[in-house]
Amino acid sequence: MKVNLDLHIHSSFSPDSRVTPGEIIRLAKQRGLDGVAIADHNTVQGGLAALEINADPDFIVIPGAEYSTEYGHVVGLFLSEEIDVQGRKPKGYTLSPTLPLGEVVQAIHAQGGIAVLAHPFQSRLSLPAHVFEGPVKVDAIEGFNSRAGTRTNPDANAHAAQCAKEYDIPALGGSDAHLPWEIGRAYTRIDLRGVSKEDVCLRECHSLVRAAILEGRVEYFGRETQRAVVPLTEIVKARKRKTYCRMPYLVLKLILASLGPVGLWLENALGEQGNAKKPKTKAE
Ligand SMILES: [Zn+2]
Ligand SMILES: [Zn+2]
Repeated sequence: MKVNLDLHIHSSFSPDSRVTPGEIIRLAKQRGLDGVAIADHNTVQGGLAALEINADPDFIVIPGAEYSTEYGHVVGLFLSEEIDVQGRKPKGYTLSPTLPLGEVVQAIHAQGGIAVLAHPFQSRLSLPAHVFEGPVKVDAIEGFNSRAGTRTNPDANAHAAQCAKEYDIPALGGSDAHLPWEIGRAYTRIDLRGVSKEDVCLRECHSLVRAAILEGRVEYFGRETQRAVVPLTEIVKARKRKTYCRMPYLVLKLILASLGPVGLWLENALGEQGNAKKPKTKAE
């Protein structure tokens, strides 16, 4: 049996999303998905809430969280509590944005979780080899993230797919949805080899899904999202944080992002784009 899961969704427990865990489950089922992973910024509370709410034995909810590290965002999947890094348990958006990658990966592994490097080339052009093959390395990367190409590197997904091949690590797909209509825009098809729907209660088969991901029995599918979702998400964040003074600037960004190539040209002219980080050598 194969199941389709969107493995990267933000809920209202993130500072930049208003979609409740219950709404995520409802929309994902409506769009034909077999499950979701909820990965809020620096907290597992949204994922745990969704796990609690899910009453459908045929639907999988994986609690996770997305942490900011020195080498970009890392999604921890199959978490059961907040990770403990440097003696601090993050809650909400309070943890330092540049945690050491190794410590985050170790803290995820300590719970039996899987560490996934999210949108690895969204705003950089290379990563050092130890991220993928060192003593403490990520278990998988996102080969496709619907939002990855909306920032500074439009080829971010192609680059990630190539990287997964080069290091022979599982490549997953996730929408990185912050807004309701983004849910399911990308997903991972996971092969639960030798298992049929009659044999298992999907809601309780986390260990099968985890093993399939680690063994690379995965394929990803997806569509890129519109660039306008980025300023829209920033507007959601400004409303939640009541930083209304940013609104005129964000509305301008939204208008530019909606103008297609003309807007991109204007953003470039204003210095907003085209500043992807310079390539680093493998030794760095
Ligand atoms: Zn991210
Ligand atoms: Zn995300």
